[in-house]
Amino acid sequence: MDDAISAARILIVDDNAANLAVLAELLDMAGYTRVYTEQSARRAVARWQAEPFDLLLLDIRMPDMDGHAVMTALQAHLADDDYLPCIVLTAQTDRETREAALDAGAIDFIAKPFDFDETLKRIKTALNTRLLHTKTRNQLTDFGQKISAQTEALIAKDHDLAYLAAHDSVTGLLNRRAVTARITQMAKAHQGGVTCALIEVTDTDQLLLIEGVESVDMFLRTVSTQLKMVIDDHLGLCGVWGGQTFLCVLPFIGDGVPLVFDRLAKAAFSSVAGFDFDVSLHGRGGFSSAQSDTGVLDEAAIDAAIRRAGFALASQHKRCNLLVEFNQIMADTALRRNLIERELNLAMRQSPEQFFLQFQPKVDLKSERVVGCEALLRWDHPTLGWISPAEFIPIAEEKGQIEQLGFIVIAQALQFIQRMHRDCGRAVMVAVNVSGYQFELMRAKGGSLIDEIRDLLEKYQIDPQYLELEITESALMSGFDWVIEKLHRLRELGVSVALDDFGTGYSSFSYLQKLPITTLKIDRSFVDNAANMPRQAALLGGIVRMAQELGLVTVAEGVETLGDIELLKTFNCPIAQGYYYSRPLMPDAFIVLLRQPGRILPAH
Ligand code: C2E
Ligand code: CA
Ligand code: CA
Repeated sequence: MDDAISAARILIVDDNAANLAVLAELLDMAGYTRVYTEQSARRAVARWQAEPFDLLLLDIRMPDMDGHAVMTALQAHLADDDYLPCIVLTAQTDRETREAALDAGAIDFIAKPFDFDETLKRIKTALNTRLLHTKTRNQLTDFGQKISAQTEALIAKDHDLAYLAAHDSVTGLLNRRAVTARITQMAKAHQGGVTCALIEVTDTDQLLLIEGVESVDMFLRTVSTQLKMVIDDHLGLCGVWGGQTFLCVLPFIGDGVPLVFDRLAKAAFSSVAGFDFDVSLHGRGGFSSAQSDTGVLDEAAIDAAIRRAGFALASQHKRCNLLVEFNQIMADTALRRNLIERELNLAMRQSPEQFFLQFQPKVDLKSERVVGCEALLRWDHPTLGWISPAEFIPIAEEKGQIEQLGFIVIAQALQFIQRMHRDCGRAVMVAVNVSGYQFELMRAKGGSLIDEIRDLLEKYQIDPQYLELEITESALMSGFDWVIEKLHRLRELGVSVALDDFGTGYSSFSYLQKLPITTLKIDRSFVDNAANMPRQAALLGGIVRMAQELGLVTVAEGVETLGDIELLKTFNCPIAQGYYYSRPLMPDAFIVLLRQPGRILPAH
């Protein structure tokens, strides 16, 4: 017999001890190992309820409680998916008795007196059914448990996904999508208006290089916690707008706003503890309010406010640590800059002829003859007109186009020297402006600038004494010693070097001594009005004298009046350049000027 069957727990209930004994003996002989007997129906119910059996063999007629009552009592405690495994033992085989037993939940009958074979068969069948039922039920329970565990896991995962979809993984703040959706909700509740601020922290690049990505994450978390603390005080919203840019939103506009944003700026741009070293943070930010004329603050109005905040942010220096309010000039400037950037790219690729040089004479103050000129780059755009180099050069510098522009300028300057020789029978020195960025690019990529100059000099067969480079102090940013070495190389080529805009930067005489330059160009701001301001005049005179002592030629820039000229003459300043003599000229006009014999006449 199957182990599971022989080990089934069977309870026989009969008030007749003899019956119990006979059945127990029979089952024992058949191999059943766990057979129990009970003479009292009540005790049987209690035993069953304490621990259900696999089979109940139940007498119907008993003194304390009949079989029907026993079944009814046990049925009352059955689980939904259970049944009572009960075979009724009865001497009465009448229909009524059977039906009553079936109604009470019996599954079979065994007639008394017992036919042993039949009895054992019925018991075994009942047990087989029971075991099958138990097994199926257990499987279902297992399955059910698995399903509910899986369902719970799915729900949890759903929660996770929803969380991840709405939050920035580094800081835990709302991400761009989620914060935008929340502002729209917030705006519905605060139709009076909301104020949006974008705050960028700008120290992360350096931190990433030095300390690694973990530190950057920690740093961003710290900033976000500090921002959130302030924002929560005002029932606002705070989210991550981009890598290192946060969006903070206040549910109000007007007078209270700047005060809160001062707090926000302090929270964002303060020092952060927890690093091996002190990190003091820098950044910039902008804000703008969204208000509605119609009383409905919709998504478009909020988008526009965030864009305006972006303009205000971009208009600030990267490390100014300020949070400024948007104004229209900021947008105009940014849009103009963007336009110039695009058009510059296009012109350099497709229409380089839009770029050309003008030449401004440099005049010897003793002889009043033209002894040189400065080449100044011009851009004549077909629709935008003339664009000032002061506007497009800084953009070209930032976008790396200055290198190519620089070569265009040097090539055109050398061609102009050729032309002077050809058309005038003589030439004067041409000074070309070289940006500090060109030195930086040279340092980054290798010595291309100097090699190019040498190649171009050779190509156009130009004597290097006709070429001068004007550099500003910004060139020294690439490394003082390195730049000095490059300047020596230029000098070895025979090219002159002028230090431009002297007086606007650090302007230290101590480094002047070390720089292998030939010329000092005194900035316009020193010359301007010096004739009427004794202190400034004294300073100007001092610079000219010191330069002379250092063996440098001085050129005074921005000379506009006769008074300027006379003052410079008293200081023995050798050369002047400025509107007094001439504005920058087109090549043809410069050739005409150079051909004229004698002194140059004032322009007016
Ligand atoms: P900069 O090198 O200081 O050039 C002198 C600027 O002063 C020129 O402006 C010139 O037109 C102007 N200027 C000359 N005399 C007077 C005067 O008497 N009064 C006044 N108020 N201004 C005078 P421009 O041509 O607009 O150039 C501006 C700046 O753009 C230049 O300043 C230079 O830094 C840059 N730049 C021009 N051409 C080039 C170039 O080919 N390469 C590079 N890297 N920069 C250039
Ligand atoms: Ca210059
Ligand atoms: Ca200058």
